[in-house]
Parts: sequence; C-alpha cells; structure tokens
Amino acid sequence: MERISHWIGGKIVPGESGRSGPVYNPVTGEQTHEVDFATVEEFDRAVEVAKEVFPEWRAMPLSKRSALFFRMREVLDQRKTDIAKVIVRQHGKCLFDALAEVERGVELLEFAAGLPHLLKGDYSEQVTTGYDLFSVRQPIGVVAGITPFNFPAMVPMWMCAAAMACGNCFILKPSERDPGASIMLAEAFRDAGLPDGVFQVVQGDKVVVDRILEHPDIRALSFVGSTPIAKYVYATAAAHGKKVQALAGAKNHMIVLPDADIGMAADAAVSSVYGSAGERCMAIATVVPVGDIAEPLMEAIIERAQELRVGDGMDPESQMGPLVTREHRDRVVSYLDSAREQGATVVMDGREHPLWGTGFFVGPSIIDHVTTDMDCYKDEIFGPVMTVVRVNTYEEAVGLIARNRWGNGAAIFTRDGGAARQFVYDVEAGMVGINVPIPVPLAFYSFGGWKESFFGDSKMYGPEGFHFWTREKAVTVRWPDPATSKIDLGFPRSR
Ligand code: NAD
Repeated sequence: MERISHWIGGKIVPGESGRSGPVYNPVTGEQTHEVDFATVEEFDRAVEVAKEVFPEWRAMPLSKRSALFFRMREVLDQRKTDIAKVIVRQHGKCLFDALAEVERGVELLEFAAGLPHLLKGDYSEQVTTGYDLFSVRQPIGVVAGITPFNFPAMVPMWMCAAAMACGNCFILKPSERDPGASIMLAEAFRDAGLPDGVFQVVQGDKVVVDRILEHPDIRALSFVGSTPIAKYVYATAAAHGKKVQALAGAKNHMIVLPDADIGMAADAAVSSVYGSAGERCMAIATVVPVGDIAEPLMEAIIERAQELRVGDGMDPESQMGPLVTREHRDRVVSYLDSAREQGATVVMDGREHPLWGTGFFVGPSIIDHVTTDMDCYKDEIFGPVMTVVRVNTYEEAVGLIARNRWGNGAAIFTRDGGAARQFVYDVEAGMVGINVPIPVPLAFYSFGGWKESFFGDSKMYGPEGFHFWTREKAVTVRWPDPATSKIDLGFPRSR
C-alpha cells in the first residue's frame, strides 16, 4: 500500500509512530493509500526546523519574496491538472471542479505576490510638536494551519499563501481523508525555490492537532472544519495564548422571491446544492421559496436534479461524484430517514440512484416541506441533499436566517434591486450572493462567516489574512535638539 508521509525540512519524511489511517478512492470504495499519523515528537521536529529557518526567511527582501511568489504561482499553475487528478481520486469531486479549486489557490498566490504593498505600514508626521508616529506589520514566527477534507488544495492555500508572504514559517496539518494534495503543494513550492522549512506538512489526527494547540512556539493558527472542532480549537488555542481564527460549519439559505426567474433560480439551486456532492461550506443547503413561486420552482428543480449525471469524477460526462467516505455517506442518508419520520416529504431519495451501493455514491436528494425543528434543517448535512422550507413572506425568509445558528453564506434570487439591497442590509451572514448561489469572495477580498460559522476576529485571506498573520508595531520618534531636553514626569500629552 502506497504511503503518504510528512514533509519536513524540504523532503518527504516517513512517519515513525506506527500509527496511520486509510485513504480511499470514493468511486470504488477501495483503500488506495495509508497516511502516517505523526507523534508529538515528529511535529516538534518540524517546529524546530521552522524556528531555525524563520530569521533568514523573515529577512528576505520584500521584492525578492514577491518574485518567489510569482514563481510559485507559475509552478502551481503548470501542475494544476496533476494536483486536481489526485484530488478527484481521494476526495471524489469531478475533475473540472478540482481544477477550479486549484486555480483559486493559484489566485491566492497571485494576490500574495503583492506583498510589498500589502505589508506597508502607516506614517503620521508631526503627531505632536516634533514627534512622528509610524507602524510596521511584522511576521509572527512559526504558525500552523489545520484543514478539512473538502478543499484539500484550496483551503491550505487560503492560509499558507498569506502566512508565508508575511514572513512566517507555516506548518500544515491536512485532513487525513485526502492528504495527497498537501505533498504536491510542498513539492511545487520547493521546485519554485521556496527555502526548505518555510512550508512543512505534518500528517495526522487529534494527537498532532492537540500538540499544535498547546505547542509554546506555535504563535498563531488557522483552522477550517466542522463547528464542534472549531469551537474546541478556538478555545484551546486561545487558552494557550495563541492568535487563532477558526472557520466552521454552515447551513446556507437561498431565498427565492416571487418575481425571480424560475429557470435561473432552479439552475442556481441545483448547481449549488449538488456541486461537489454538497461537500462545500458555501453550498446552498436550504432553498426558501417565498409565496406562489414554490410549486413551479420545485417542478423546475426536480426536473433538473433528475437529469444530473452522477459518476466517476474523471469521466468528463460526470457532473457529481461520490462522497468522501462510507461513514460520511451513511450519515448523510440518515437525514432522509429522520426527515420522513419527522413529517417532511422526501421527493428524491439518493439511495434510489443506480450507483447506490457502488463506492460512496449517493444520488441527488430533495426533502420538501421541511420545518425548522427537523434534524435535516437543524444539522449540517454536508451532502447532496436539498432541504426546502416554504414561507409566505420575505420577512419570514430573512427571519429564518437570523434565527439559524450559522451565518456563513446566504443568497437571494430576485429581479427587484430594492429587495436585494434590503436583503444585504438585513441578512445575518458573512458572505452574501445576489442572484449568485456560491458567493465565495475572490482572493483580494476576505472569507469568513458570522455566528457559529466563524470564531475569531480577522477573516481568512485577502487584506484580513495579511492582518491575521502579522503583528503591528507602533513606533514614536523624535529628533529634538538635545539642548532643549528636560525632565518631565507627566504622562505624555499631545496638546
Ligand atoms: P472536521 O472538523 O472533521 O476536520 C477538520 C480538521 O480537524 C481535520 O484536519 C481533522 O483531522 C481535525 N479533527 C477532526 N476531529 C478532531 C478532533 N476530535 N480533535 C482535533 N482535531 C480534529 O471537518 P471535515 O469533515 O474535514 O470538513 C467538513 C467541515 O468543514 C464542514 O462542517 C464544513 O462546513 C466545514 N468547512 C468550513 C469552511 C468555512 O470556511 N467555514 C470551509 C470548508 C469546510
């Protein structure tokens, strides 16, 4: 069985713990790899390497660091298809989708290459007589990122592009379910000329996560994953004095107002719910038709969902692949049973799809007439299951989102600019789409939800990413004539 190991000090380092986990091809359900799980000592070794490299990396002139980021961008772009194919094999998503994910990663490097501009501080002259005040943003040191299975290339890039551009040394702990892309990123960066030890990968499970959370030399860390683990990571890391941002689960609503174009809204709902088999934190989970549009909209959605081509992500004909593991698939379909028991209408059951029973496939599913007390509404399903909550008014629809525990993304479909503007004003979510069902901000904005979708302050990547991965230092300067110097025990005044 092929092993996936750690990347420490610029090379692959086989694990020594004797602990490991399986990686599957979700199309067949067969195990293809074994991934090493690090010990505390193995992680500590990576930290020691990073600490040694940090002073030199931090000192690299900004123009030189920027040029290196352009090279990293080029190498990653050249290898995007190879990386995407590995993602298809370990995650299950379709090749076109995996390629889009790596391309988003390329864009993050592109943005980070603008680091000389992004790291500029402020300068105020003559803040009081003869005094100037300026600020610099400095790297934090050795930092870490813990990532989920659903974007094995893009989410690590959300973190590491900005973290390294700011002058930090970054250690990645990828998801143990599809860790192959992490090593390919490391190889691409090395081949572009990134000094050994600036980007490292330590594979593993809770053992290594817990070590990251308490290691005294990890000064900041970024997490993306489910809400219970995000809460744990945020609280534990903060208790150990670290700067931490933790992006978490979601339940994104798509409101469809009565004036919306039905075909366009149905296309968008189906694309968003079933893309990547629903394993996206920005996927629409709940469609909320307002008023009379519900019947014709559901008809249009069902027609489209029935025609979706489910299959191996390497087949160019496929639109939707399997789920990542058997356990996850079983958990996803359990919501179809509980929905039925709790009184909802299961309009499409993915277990009736011909590929049910092959690998980790489940077909597109739709649960209509859902109410907010049902498990399929209260929990994050994270699979190809559309839940539909029908309401009578816009106020009811926006109230649903306000009362939901999550607030990652939300979308509205309408042809009324005034209603859309009001929605932007009202809605309790961090990322909003107007006639856009997956409103993921591009690299030059920042990503992050509200409520239980995000724990922390600065958001991910973009300008806030540069803020997160640096510390500000404020410097007060004066160059007076020594002859004017005198003792003054008062607190410094500016007036
Ligand atoms: P997960 O929480 O199971 O795992 C995330 C990471 O935490 C992995 O690296 C995993 O090894 C580690 N981990 C898991 N259990 C742990 C434990 N008990 N103690 C310590 N570490 C642990 O998440 P997942 O299933 O890989 O990913 C799906 C989840 O991620 C969904 O909830 C999805 O909404 C969320 N997600 C959120 C965003 C966002 O930006 N808000 C983006 C992508 C995914």
